[in-house]
Amino acid sequence: MDIPFNPKAPPRYHMLVKPTGATCNLDCAYCFFLSKEMLYPGSRFRMADELLENYIRQLIESHRTQEVSLAFQGGEPTLMGVPFFRRAVELAERYRRPGMTIEYSMQTNGTLLDDEWGEFLAANNFLMGISIDGPREIHDMYRYDKGGAPTFDRVMRGLDALKRHKVEWNVLCTLHKYNADRPLEIYHFFRDTLGAEYLQFIPIVERVTPEQAAAAASSAEPWHSWRDRPLYTQTGELVTERSITGAQYGKFFNAIYDEWVRRDVGRIYVQMFDVALANWVGAPSSGLCIHSRTCGTALAMEHNGDVYSCDHFVEPKYLLGNIKEEHLIDLVASDQQIRFGNDKFDTLPAYCRRCDVRFACHGGCPKDRFILTPDGEPGLNYLCEGYKAFFHHIDEGMRFMANELRHERAPANIMAYMAHKDAAERNLFANVGRNDPCPCGSGRKFKQCHGSAAHGSAAHGSAAHT
Ligand code: SF4
Ligand code: SF4
Repeated sequence: MDIPFNPKAPPRYHMLVKPTGATCNLDCAYCFFLSKEMLYPGSRFRMADELLENYIRQLIESHRTQEVSLAFQGGEPTLMGVPFFRRAVELAERYRRPGMTIEYSMQTNGTLLDDEWGEFLAANNFLMGISIDGPREIHDMYRYDKGGAPTFDRVMRGLDALKRHKVEWNVLCTLHKYNADRPLEIYHFFRDTLGAEYLQFIPIVERVTPEQAAAAASSAEPWHSWRDRPLYTQTGELVTERSITGAQYGKFFNAIYDEWVRRDVGRIYVQMFDVALANWVGAPSSGLCIHSRTCGTALAMEHNGDVYSCDHFVEPKYLLGNIKEEHLIDLVASDQQIRFGNDKFDTLPAYCRRCDVRFACHGGCPKDRFILTPDGEPGLNYLCEGYKAFFHHIDEGMRFMANELRHERAPANIMAYMAHKDAAERNLFANVGRNDPCPCGSGRKFKQCHGSAAHGSAAHGSAAHT
C-alpha cells in the first residue's frame, strides 16, 4: 500500500463520522445537529459502501501511529443497522497495517440497541458512548422522540443490552438549565443506579441572534427544536433559555468534584477531572480539545464524504473538502484546518492570556467565545465564570494528585488526605456558634464563612451548628 505523506499532517487525529448525516430517530429539544439536514437537500443520508471503504483506507493511510480511532456519531449511527458496522470492521481489518490497533467507538442515543447489537459490539471491542441526562424525569425533559414521547425506558433497555454483553460504555450527559442545579442527584444516579464508571458532561450552550430570540419570544412553543428553525450556526450573542449558565456550570462540577475527590478517585472517571489533572501535570495534551492550547485535530465527516473542521462547525464556511476529491491527509493538513486549530490560541482575549488558570482552561471552545471581557474585549467564553470557579476550586486537590503522579504514586491517595483534612476541619469548627468569628481567620462570622451552606467543606464540618 502506498502511504501518502504530508509533512504538515498530525501523526494522529480524530474524525467523527456521521454515516446517517443528521438523521435521528429522536428529536431532542437542544440538538443543534438535526438542522444540519438542510445542508444536504434531497439526500438519502446513508453512507455508501464505496465511500465507507474509501474513508477507512484513507484514514488508515493518513495515520503515522499504530493506533487509529474509527469513531461513529450522528444523527443516530445505529440507524444504519449492524451490517454496516460489520462491514466497517471487515474493511478496517483488511486495510490495517501489521501491528496497528483500530479503536472502535460510537456515540448513540441507545434506543435501538438490542442483543444483536450487544453481541456485535462486544465481539469487536467497541467503546459506546450513551446519551443519558439523568434519572427518568430529568432525562425525559428534553430527550424525546419524533412524536414527543419520552425515551428513558428505551435508553435503559439499550443500556441493559450493552451490560448483558459486557460492552464497554460511558455516559454522555448534557448539562442544561433543568439538570445543572442537581449535580449530586445526577452523579449518584449514574454511579449507583446505572453502575457507570466513565462520565462525560457536555454543556448546552445554544447561541441565538437577537432576531431569533425575538421570534422565539412571540412563538407559542419557543425553542422546541432546531429542526423547525434555520440551519444552526455558531452565531449570535444570546442563548436559549434552556442553556446552562456559567455559574451553574462551575457549581455543578464543584459539587461532583467534592464527592469524587473524597470517595471515587481511581474508581469513577469523570472526563473533566482527568483533563484537568493532565493540565496540572503539564502533559503535552490534555486529551480534550476544549481545554488544550490549540485544536484542529478533531474533525467531522458527513455521510457523503464532506469533511468539516469540527463537529461543532459543520457549516459551509468550515467545509474543508470531500474525500472523493482530495485525500484525507491533505484535508487534515490543509492551511484552512491548521489556521482553524491555531485560532483557538491566537484569538484569545488579553483577559484570558493573563488569567491564572489559563494553563487549565485555555479559553475553552471557540464556539462558546461570544461574550465581552470585563474590559469590553470581545471573544470571552460564555462559560468563563464557571471555568474560573471550577479551576480555582480544584487547585489544591489537583496539585496534590499531580505531585503523587510525579512521584509515581497513585492520585487516589488524595482521598486519605481529604479525610484527614475534613477531620481536622471538623475539630476546628466543632464548638463554634453561628454568630462567632470564623476560626479560619477570615474576619467574617462563622455563618457567613465556613458555616454557610455555600461553603463546600463547611457543610461537612459544621452541619450540626448551622
Ligand atoms: S472548535 Fe471547540 S470542539 Fe471543535 S476542535 Fe476546537 S475546541 Fe474542540
Ligand atoms: S477561566 Fe475565563 S479568563 Fe481564564 S482562560 Fe478560561 S475563559 Fe479565559
